[in-house]
Amino acid sequence: MKLSLRDYQQDSVDAAIKHFQSSTDSAVIALPTGAGKSIVIAELARIAKGRVLVLTHVKELVEQNAEKVGLLTEDADVYSAGLKQKNTAGKTVVASVQSAARAAEKFSEAFSLVIIDECHRISLNKDSQYQLLLNHLKQVNPSIRLLGLTATPYRLGTGWIYRHHYHGKVGNTDNPIFEKCIFELPIRPLIKRGFLTPPKMFDGVTAQYDFSALSMTPSGEYSETKVNSILSHVGRATKAIVHQIQSVSQNRKGVIIFAATVRHAREVVSYLEESETALITADTPQDERALLIKSFKNEQFKFLVNVAVLTTGFDAPHVDFIAILRPTASVSLFQQMVGRGLRLSEGKKDCLVIDYAANGYDLYFPEVGQVKPNSRSVPVQVHCPVCSFANTFWGLTDDDGDLIEHFGRRCQGLIDEQNYKGQCDFRFRSKSCPDCGAENDIAARICQTCQSTLIDPDKRLKQVLSQQHHHLFKCQDMILHADGETLKVQYIDIEGNDFIRKFKMETKAQIRAMFAIFIHTHTKTPGLSHPRYTSPKQVVDAADTFRKPDLLLLKKEKKYWKLMESYFDYHGRYQIEA
Ligand SMILES: [Zn+2]
Ligand SMILES: [Zn+2]
Repeated sequence: MKLSLRDYQQDSVDAAIKHFQSSTDSAVIALPTGAGKSIVIAELARIAKGRVLVLTHVKELVEQNAEKVGLLTEDADVYSAGLKQKNTAGKTVVASVQSAARAAEKFSEAFSLVIIDECHRISLNKDSQYQLLLNHLKQVNPSIRLLGLTATPYRLGTGWIYRHHYHGKVGNTDNPIFEKCIFELPIRPLIKRGFLTPPKMFDGVTAQYDFSALSMTPSGEYSETKVNSILSHVGRATKAIVHQIQSVSQNRKGVIIFAATVRHAREVVSYLEESETALITADTPQDERALLIKSFKNEQFKFLVNVAVLTTGFDAPHVDFIAILRPTASVSLFQQMVGRGLRLSEGKKDCLVIDYAANGYDLYFPEVGQVKPNSRSVPVQVHCPVCSFANTFWGLTDDDGDLIEHFGRRCQGLIDEQNYKGQCDFRFRSKSCPDCGAENDIAARICQTCQSTLIDPDKRLKQVLSQQHHHLFKCQDMILHADGETLKVQYIDIEGNDFIRKFKMETKAQIRAMFAIFIHTHTKTPGLSHPRYTSPKQVVDAADTFRKPDLLLLKKEKKYWKLMESYFDYHGRYQIEA
């Protein structure tokens, strides 16, 4: 059988060749699910001069990759206990990492290239199977090239899996698994060109869960107990949702339902026809899972309910309805779920997608690379005023899609000039070091430039507040007023008291001062310029573009209160309970 590569598959292959000709740095290629990663792998195996080892974590992908290699070039050797084959002598070897790591000594004849499929699963842990095996391969051949392929070059908790992106973006500078992302293809062109089924987002939901009260752990996950607690208060919502799933799926062939917890999944299953439904959880034994998936693929039942199991490495092309009943803080995870329904299949025109958890993402959202700050946030583009890189941050927009606020901290632009290579230094939000003046991240405890300890605002407040004549004003609201040529800023605290600041705007110097003191500290879009306000009225009209401080430290001088410090982005013990 003669196989020809699609243009973007050829582009991926070319990017890898070009990269490895001049560098031994590890590299990643990001292709959406369904883009045909195994063809890219097979072509690389075909043209490589030396031996190639292809690693993956499940036997289904070992089989798939070995089959594609066989179509393009001579058959690959397979090393997988699950497939009962253990050959490592050929030019190309396709192996499961579990089996290979257990018998690393069998991989002691040098490979020139190792390709890892679903490479976002590699752990940084030195004792993990991948790391042990990769270390062994490097000992055998110190100049071995490492290439990863994935649909999601991002992990909750650890972030981007690469250090630099070829679009000039910084990924993870702390502990990336790969050095460089050398090629990335978004999903939209694949759908447009008919390589994937178009999704059909459905928004006429009869009932929806409200998970907006959930707070995330720093790794971006939700606690199962809290999810269950929310679900236990939704009354008959689950029943109504399942009822709607049943009625809109009349003409659908295969439905995957993503439930939030095991208990939730059981409830969902209880409302569905038993003969048409199966449940898979993390505890479902391997052989039972395989059997269920097989009969689902054969369309012996319609509804496959699962809890965080069927996100990667599972492929049932006939699926034409994805129902999402679980919250997720990850754009990538949402897209992986939808991706289960986008494979092409005979007679399939679209794939219905219903988001019952009001996650609010769509399939074309870019991955922001940070945990979503609140449920209303959407990805927004913010240009850096220094290097003009187009950053993607979380932010808020108005009904026209115009930017109201963004939560970006540091520019993600990659500067590649003769005298400086590295991340752009511009910070949209920062705090300055009292010792050296350097700008630091708002959460930093140690100055990145002089290593001195940055003042913990709580320590400072505690100390100051123990002195006389000081008052901590917990600001709840801010109202702007135009009073002739004077801008009045009225801060209101939780008890309804107010504190007023006045800015005269008669002369150019006064307006400059107002910009420096008020506009630059209160803007919701740091780094972006404001119009040249010339009258208080213009500032008042733009009131929506300013944010209030969290705290004001006031000091009584004679009869009046004087503002000593304002605190923005404050998180600590003096915070107002939300
Ligand atoms: Zn920049
Ligand atoms: Zn410093």
